[in-house]
Amino acid sequence: MTETTTKRPFTAHSFNQYLLEGKLMASCCADCGDLGLPPKAVCSECHGYNMNWVETKGRGKLAGFTVVYIAPTFMIEQGYGRGKPYVSGIVELEEGVKISARILGVDPMKPEEIKIGTPMEISIIEDGEEEKKAYLAFKTIDK
Ligand SMILES: [Zn+2]
Repeated sequence: MTETTTKRPFTAHSFNQYLLEGKLMASCCADCGDLGLPPKAVCSECHGYNMNWVETKGRGKLAGFTVVYIAPTFMIEQGYGRGKPYVSGIVELEEGVKISARILGVDPMKPEEIKIGTPMEISIIEDGEEEKKAYLAFKTIDK
Protein backbone atom coordinates (compact mmCIF):
# COMPACT_ATOMS: atom_id res chain seq x y z
CA MET A 1 0.00 0.00 0.00
CA THR A 2 1.30 3.43 -0.90
CA GLU A 3 0.41 6.87 0.35
CA THR A 4 0.56 10.07 -1.62
CA THR A 5 2.40 13.09 -0.31
CA THR A 6 -0.05 15.74 -1.48
CA LYS A 7 -3.42 14.60 -0.36
CA ARG A 8 -6.23 14.84 -2.88
CA PRO A 9 -9.73 15.52 -1.55
CA PHE A 10 -11.79 12.40 -0.85
CA THR A 11 -14.24 12.93 -3.69
CA ALA A 12 -15.58 11.00 -6.67
CA HIS A 13 -13.47 13.30 -8.86
CA SER A 14 -10.21 12.29 -7.14
CA PHE A 15 -11.27 8.65 -7.25
CA ASN A 16 -11.77 8.96 -11.02
CA GLN A 17 -8.46 10.79 -11.49
CA TYR A 18 -6.75 7.86 -9.79
CA LEU A 19 -8.62 5.43 -12.05
CA LEU A 20 -7.26 7.31 -15.08
CA GLU A 21 -3.81 6.70 -13.58
CA GLY A 22 -4.64 3.01 -13.33
CA LYS A 23 -5.11 2.95 -9.57
CA LEU A 24 -8.04 1.77 -7.52
CA MET A 25 -7.70 3.95 -4.44
CA ALA A 26 -9.62 3.70 -1.18
CA SER A 27 -9.71 5.97 1.83
CA CYS A 28 -8.12 4.52 4.95
CA CYS A 29 -8.78 5.84 8.44
CA ALA A 30 -5.50 6.58 10.23
CA ASP A 31 -7.21 6.06 13.59
CA CYS A 32 -9.05 2.77 13.17
CA GLY A 33 -7.86 1.44 9.79
CA ASP A 34 -11.32 1.27 8.25
CA LEU A 35 -11.26 1.28 4.44
CA GLY A 36 -13.74 3.38 2.47
CA LEU A 37 -14.64 2.50 -1.10
CA PRO A 38 -15.81 4.67 -2.74
CA PRO A 39 -13.50 6.87 -0.65
CA LYS A 40 -14.98 8.85 2.20
CA ALA A 41 -13.76 12.05 3.88
CA VAL A 42 -15.24 10.91 7.19
CA CYS A 43 -14.63 7.46 8.64
CA SER A 44 -17.86 5.45 8.70
CA GLU A 45 -16.59 3.44 11.69
CA CYS A 46 -15.18 6.01 14.14
CA HIS A 47 -16.40 9.21 12.42
CA GLY A 48 -12.87 10.64 12.41
CA TYR A 49 -11.48 12.91 9.71
CA ASN A 50 -7.95 11.50 9.79
CA MET A 51 -8.07 9.81 6.39
CA ASN A 52 -5.34 8.74 3.98
CA TRP A 53 -5.40 7.36 0.45
CA VAL A 54 -4.30 3.77 -0.02
CA GLU A 55 -3.98 1.84 -3.24
CA THR A 56 -5.78 -1.49 -3.31
CA LYS A 57 -4.35 -4.49 -5.15
CA GLY A 58 -7.35 -4.32 -7.47
CA ARG A 59 -8.04 -8.02 -7.05
CA GLY A 60 -10.92 -9.82 -5.47
CA LYS A 61 -13.81 -12.11 -6.16
CA LEU A 62 -17.30 -11.75 -7.55
CA ALA A 63 -19.79 -11.35 -4.70
CA GLY A 64 -22.95 -10.77 -6.72
CA PHE A 65 -24.12 -9.65 -10.13
CA THR A 66 -27.07 -8.66 -12.29
CA VAL A 67 -27.50 -8.64 -16.03
CA VAL A 68 -28.63 -5.15 -17.04
CA TYR A 69 -31.14 -4.86 -19.90
CA ILE A 70 -32.52 -1.46 -18.97
CA ALA A 71 -29.37 0.62 -19.20
CA PRO A 72 -28.72 4.11 -17.82
CA THR A 73 -28.25 6.87 -20.42
CA PHE A 74 -24.44 6.82 -20.48
CA MET A 75 -24.49 3.06 -21.17
CA ILE A 76 -27.13 3.42 -23.91
CA GLU A 77 -24.76 5.96 -25.52
CA GLN A 78 -22.16 3.18 -25.58
CA GLY A 79 -24.59 0.89 -27.40
CA TYR A 80 -25.91 -1.16 -24.46
CA GLY A 81 -29.53 -1.88 -23.67
CA ARG A 82 -32.27 -4.40 -24.32
CA GLY A 83 -30.58 -5.97 -27.34
CA LYS A 84 -27.08 -5.85 -25.84
CA PRO A 85 -27.13 -6.37 -22.08
CA TYR A 86 -24.11 -6.03 -19.83
CA VAL A 87 -23.15 -7.35 -16.42
CA SER A 88 -22.96 -5.16 -13.34
CA GLY A 89 -21.69 -6.70 -10.14
CA ILE A 90 -20.24 -6.39 -6.69
CA VAL A 91 -16.62 -7.37 -6.20
CA GLU A 92 -15.21 -8.10 -2.76
CA LEU A 93 -11.60 -6.99 -2.78
CA GLU A 94 -8.78 -8.87 -1.07
CA GLU A 95 -8.70 -5.94 1.37
CA GLY A 96 -12.24 -6.89 2.44
CA VAL A 97 -14.22 -3.99 0.97
CA LYS A 98 -16.92 -4.39 -1.62
CA ILE A 99 -17.49 -2.17 -4.63
CA SER A 100 -19.93 -2.21 -7.52
CA ALA A 101 -18.47 -2.20 -11.01
CA ARG A 102 -18.94 -3.40 -14.58
CA ILE A 103 -18.01 -7.07 -14.93
CA LEU A 104 -16.08 -8.07 -18.05
CA GLY A 105 -15.00 -11.41 -19.40
CA VAL A 106 -18.38 -13.01 -18.72
CA ASP A 107 -21.23 -13.64 -21.15
CA PRO A 108 -24.36 -11.59 -20.29
CA MET A 109 -26.39 -13.93 -22.50
CA LYS A 110 -25.42 -16.90 -20.30
CA PRO A 111 -25.87 -15.69 -16.71
CA GLU A 112 -26.13 -19.30 -15.49
CA GLU A 113 -22.43 -19.67 -16.31
CA ILE A 114 -21.39 -16.71 -14.17
CA LYS A 115 -20.21 -17.98 -10.79
CA ILE A 116 -20.16 -16.18 -7.46
CA GLY A 117 -16.61 -16.35 -6.08
CA THR A 118 -14.94 -16.07 -9.49
CA PRO A 119 -11.50 -14.39 -9.09
CA MET A 120 -11.52 -10.90 -10.62
CA GLU A 121 -8.98 -8.19 -11.32
CA ILE A 122 -9.38 -4.52 -12.10
CA SER A 123 -9.90 -3.40 -15.69
CA ILE A 124 -10.42 0.32 -16.17
CA ILE A 125 -12.63 1.48 -19.03
CA GLU A 126 -11.61 4.85 -20.48
CA ASP A 127 -14.05 7.01 -22.33
CA GLY A 128 -14.42 10.58 -23.57
CA GLU A 129 -12.24 12.49 -25.97
CA GLU A 130 -11.99 16.05 -24.70
CA GLU A 131 -12.53 15.26 -21.07
CA LYS A 132 -11.33 11.78 -20.22
CA LYS A 133 -13.46 9.66 -17.97
CA ALA A 134 -12.69 6.37 -16.35
CA TYR A 135 -15.15 3.69 -15.32
CA LEU A 136 -14.32 0.98 -12.87
CA ALA A 137 -14.66 -2.53 -14.20
CA PHE A 138 -13.39 -5.94 -13.22
CA LYS A 139 -12.56 -8.84 -15.49
CA THR A 140 -12.17 -12.52 -14.83
CA ILE A 141 -8.58 -13.62 -14.25
CA ASP A 142 -7.41 -15.96 -17.00
CA LYS A 143 -5.99 -19.14 -15.62
ZN1 LIG B 1 -11.92 5.32 11.72
